[in-house]
Amino acid sequence: MTLSTYLPAAPRRAVCPACLRAQSACICRWIVPLASRVELLVLQHPLEVRNAKNSARLLHLSLAGSRLEVGETFSAKALDALLHADGRTPLLLYPETPGDASLGIAPPPLLPSESFLHPERLRLVVLDATWRKSRKMLYLNPALQCLPRLALQDAPPSAYRIRKAHAPHQLSSFEAAVHALAQLEENPLYYRPLLAAFDGFVQQQAACIQQVTSHLNPE
Ligand SMILES: [Zn+2]
Repeated sequence: MTLSTYLPAAPRRAVCPACLRAQSACICRWIVPLASRVELLVLQHPLEVRNAKNSARLLHLSLAGSRLEVGETFSAKALDALLHADGRTPLLLYPETPGDASLGIAPPPLLPSESFLHPERLRLVVLDATWRKSRKMLYLNPALQCLPRLALQDAPPSAYRIRKAHAPHQLSSFEAAVHALAQLEENPLYYRPLLAAFDGFVQQQAACIQQVTSHLNPE
């Protein structure tokens, strides 16, 4: 019998059940409980789930009534139920993409202007994925192509300093969704605490990365 037989199995890293991160990297202190009038539905690409930069889950944990579903291709029936639950009108947070026609994607319908008068009848649908993967999700799920699209107006530069290749005008899913909610509800002040919490989250992630880097390259 070897010595290793007597050694206890390595303890599994304790994981926070809410944010699904290691307890040592838990981000739950950045949760700001808030109720939105527009309901939020996040469709998260599977590659984002374990990404340390994943901020969509933090938003989901903050916003009462929000939903977060993970997948690349969704069954038509399940997606339809998610999009139209409670009779809300779904709209997709996605820019105009002129290349769509070449992919066989028809132009999205216009949003009836009266729907903006009733935020509690709207559902904001956010694709949490890299740009490439979000294009794929749009292509693979025809129901998403049929949604009216919402583009952000006057979005400020991103606080996201984690992604090196992130251009200043590209917002994280968290920031984009919050700005869209504020825009639809015409209430930016209400959502400010969420953006402040996001800043804290970004700083925590940056400190984490710095720690790992200095550990790998000690002076
Ligand atoms: Zn946590």
